[in-house]
Amino acid sequence: MVPFLRPAPPSLLGLGEELRAIEASGIYTNYGPTNSRFEQAMQESMFRDGGACVTVCNATIGLMMAMRAVIERASARSGKAFDRTERRYALMPSFTFAAAAQAADWIGLTPLFCDIDEADWAASAASEEALIERYGRNIAVIVPYATFGNCIDLARYERLSERTGIPVVVDGAASLGSLDSAGRPFSAHSALPVVFSMHATKTFSTGEGGVIHASDPELIQMLRVMGNFGFGGKRSATMPGLNSKLSEVGALLALSQLRRFESVVTHRETLAETYRDGLPGWIFQELTGTRCAHQFMPMLLPVELRGMRDMIVAQLAERGIGAGTYFSPHVAAQPFFQMNGLAGDLSVTERVAANMLCLPLWTEMSVETVAFVCDALRDICRPFMHRPTVLQELPAGAARTSGRAKAGKAA
Ligand SMILES: *Cc1c(COP(=O)(O)O)cnc(C)c1O
Repeated sequence: MVPFLRPAPPSLLGLGEELRAIEASGIYTNYGPTNSRFEQAMQESMFRDGGACVTVCNATIGLMMAMRAVIERASARSGKAFDRTERRYALMPSFTFAAAAQAADWIGLTPLFCDIDEADWAASAASEEALIERYGRNIAVIVPYATFGNCIDLARYERLSERTGIPVVVDGAASLGSLDSAGRPFSAHSALPVVFSMHATKTFSTGEGGVIHASDPELIQMLRVMGNFGFGGKRSATMPGLNSKLSEVGALLALSQLRRFESVVTHRETLAETYRDGLPGWIFQELTGTRCAHQFMPMLLPVELRGMRDMIVAQLAERGIGAGTYFSPHVAAQPFFQMNGLAGDLSVTERVAANMLCLPLWTEMSVETVAFVCDALRDICRPFMHRPTVLQELPAGAARTSGRAKAGKAA
């Protein structure tokens, strides 16, 4: 059996001594010593910049708080209060997980969904611009998503924010371990707050947990206070707050994951490359950084297999192989957000979501198991594929390539 995902958080039993130390200290939460050690280690070995980070109990709550914080700050700076009577939007791609849209809803914003780019499946700049043009005054925050851990151009969002005055929060839920085109950790040296997840199913697997990073220590301090009931004074709320703290045991798991994380990411990269080499004709995400912390293996059906996804998933299941279809349905197509969201033109999103197939990729998976999955998929699809795909010379510029970091087009 090859499950789609197999979470691999560090072994709790292997942490016996450190767990005993937590018990002996009598400190279980409230940004305790283990949490501080983890945040410091993240700054040093993960983000490697002069910024700061704060842990959260999960990325969804982290997104909620970060959006609220940047909006509060922007309105304090402009002297305009956060008007609760006016309809205000959080601009985000619809091709994402529902968390960012739910977070927006919880702070009284309406998600406004934009389309994505054909090649890297992240928010399309043209689509964002069109919606900003139309709804600009009422857009409270922009929330791009670094799709499946792939890097997005944070400098572009910094410029966009500067030009429009709209603050930005980045959903980097799957991006811990990803390196940008300059080989720097995603989010390092960026002024924008980036929210990362440490959920069991993410590459940085713990159980529940997250971390917010920004180059701006003041914003991180504000989030720390917000996450502890808004207590800026002694048990006295000085700002909106909730409880977003990570427990000491959660921080210990995270610290332990961090120690071995480099090998986790590089192994998963090898698995992803094995898939790319083993599945000619399939359309892969255009990778924009020098390293992606692959969460699973997403790809688009070749043209000749369009409409056959259910059959393929069922036949993979018959062979004991799990598969996913992230993000199908995309967020704007989900019942709650059909009622409580607003969408621009989503034609690329529709096409990408309808043709997406995600294959298993997990930390303890072997290259041989990837080869087994590729064999099974090729076998299932062979009767429908134009032959021979491997040997055929494709015309220059043809997009049906399995090559790494080449543009795939959802034709
Ligand atoms: C997993 C995920 C989240 C939510 O993370 P949690 O830590 O589970 O709350 C948010 N956004 C995206 C894109 C995700 O993949």
